[in-house]
Amino acid sequence: MEEQFEYSEKVMEHFRNPRNVGEVKDADGIGRVGNPVCGDLMEIQIKVENNILKDVKFKTFGCGSAIATSSMITEMAIGKTLEEALKITRGDVAAELDGLPPIKMHCSNLAADALHAAIKDYMTKKEEKAKVEAEKYDFDVIIVGGGPGGLTTGILCAYRGLKTAIFEASNWGGILSWLCPNKMIENFPGLCEKSTCTDLVESWVNEAKKLKVEMKKERVNEITQDKKIIAESGAYRGKIIVLATGSSPSTGGIKGEDKFSKNERGVYYYVRDPQNFVGKRVLVVGGGNSAVDAALSLADTADLITIAHRKDELRVVPQKIERLKAIDKIKVLYNTEVLEIAGTEKVEKAIMKDLKEDETIQQVVDSVVLAVGLTPNTEIFKKLGLEMDEKGYLKTDKTQKTNIDGIYAVGDIASDLQLVVVAVAHGATVAHNAYIELRKPYWR
Ligand SMILES: Cc1cc2nc3c(=O)[nH]c(=O)nc-3n(C[C@H](O)[C@H](O)[C@H](O)COP(=O)(O)OP(=O)(O)OC[C@H]3O[C@@H](n4cnc5c(N)ncnc54)[C@H](O)[C@@H]3O)c2cc1C
Repeated sequence: MEEQFEYSEKVMEHFRNPRNVGEVKDADGIGRVGNPVCGDLMEIQIKVENNILKDVKFKTFGCGSAIATSSMITEMAIGKTLEEALKITRGDVAAELDGLPPIKMHCSNLAADALHAAIKDYMTKKEEKAKVEAEKYDFDVIIVGGGPGGLTTGILCAYRGLKTAIFEASNWGGILSWLCPNKMIENFPGLCEKSTCTDLVESWVNEAKKLKVEMKKERVNEITQDKKIIAESGAYRGKIIVLATGSSPSTGGIKGEDKFSKNERGVYYYVRDPQNFVGKRVLVVGGGNSAVDAALSLADTADLITIAHRKDELRVVPQKIERLKAIDKIKVLYNTEVLEIAGTEKVEKAIMKDLKEDETIQQVVDSVVLAVGLTPNTEIFKKLGLEMDEKGYLKTDKTQKTNIDGIYAVGDIASDLQLVVVAVAHGATVAHNAYIELRKPYWR
């Protein structure tokens, strides 16, 4: 004899007018379950947006209560977060339908199981997608430039467990290690009179290697909006890119400069080795730290050192002025502009103008050192659309982030104050923010 049971009004209503039947376009998750006893089959498809079930549809091959429970669970689930939807039980579905005959309870079980299976399918796919996405990146952080800014950013990123690479086009240590490797860094607290540029750079490089920073000695030629860098050996992707390309000595635009600046003919932009100036009469052009440092570094080797400065005051700390005053063979010509560097094969004289007296003067010299400022190495970023000031320095916020998401800038290219200690502080700021951005720690 066939078993008799009563369905509630709600069950009947959902059976006659089932909601959300069919398939979800481009479903994010699909759950299929079956009951081996009654042979019912159930499929639920879901669409998820921001962790919320935006759409839920079902298909069933089953009895009237299978249709009603599926219809009901789709209504219950839409608009809920995934976590809330995972908590919907067979009992909840049955209760919403004002009860089911005990023999039909397995139908509500089926509906809840199919929904949970669809959510789990979505989560598995999401994890797989994230894994594939993560594999597309070669590094967490790629740093372009291996000067004080780049090296210390690399050290501090690696210290925080971020997979880091630094690309350096020429010398590790940046402008200091090729312009003045033997200079003492007097204004780096804790190291005053203890470390030359070379010592400092050596310890940074060793530290970076110890922390497994990938050190790539190659030029970066381009950076794309999607954070890919095109280097000499190929393309690399970083989740975060840090620009640390520093600056290069500016040219003076002086007549004759071009002719004598190549092949050791007497015009230089820095004093790398004072021994090359033994017995020479040297004119240093400029009035800032670089010019005064160049003059002081020649005190033991050159015969006569003249500093020509356009203004009536030098832009250096007082102790450097005192040192200059104590060295007889260093003379400073204030209010003086260099008009021409002249000679036949090599530099022989400089023609200058005394701006106060409006007089032209000539001085016999063997070498000219142009310490007339620095130009930021930001040319390669122009295509990228990074915001810069009129001099080509990059604009950043207080976390060193540029106007492009995921691209940071440190050191001289992003600072009004061009000091090693500032570049290092930028490195610390970026490492902290990169860690927060990539690792999303619980405390943020
Ligand atoms: C003569 C002189 C003396 C100085 N003395 C002092 C001092 O006593 N104390 C002090 O605090 N500061 C001093 N400074 C300033 C100090 O050198 C800078 O503030 C510091 O070097 C900035 O570091 P940075 O990493 O930003 O740039 P940089 O040191 O300029 O390093 C940038 C690096 O990026 C690399 N690079 C550029 N383009 C690319 C590319 N496309 N691909 C790959 N690599 C690239 C360059 O080769 C370079 O090695 C001095 C500067 C000069 C010029």
